[in-house]
Amino acid sequence: MTQRYCKKCLLRDMPEGEYFKNLYDYIAGLPKEDKVSDDIYESRLARCRTCENLLSGMCRLCGCYVEMRAAMKVRACPRVPALWQAWDQEEEQE
Ligand code: SF4
Repeated sequence: MTQRYCKKCLLRDMPEGEYFKNLYDYIAGLPKEDKVSDDIYESRLARCRTCENLLSGMCRLCGCYVEMRAAMKVRACPRVPALWQAWDQEEEQE
């Protein structure tokens, strides 16, 4: 029988693979109007890859998984100065 995990499970209750599947499912399920384009998403993640605050996929400043944070239009990099901006300010930094 397959073990099932509910939305209320803690990370410690899930095997790592299941947790990351849930994370990617969550990103995929975000409303289209709330998500940035693929180009902006990859640009944001490329900047995170160069950042001293990236640790095991998490941002040490905000505690978010950057692949989730970078997918959302309204989110911005918390670093000062920021390495990427919220979607409505994105053009200003290009
Ligand atoms: S500080 Fe900004 S660029 Fe660095 S990991 Fe966090 S979100 Fe990414």
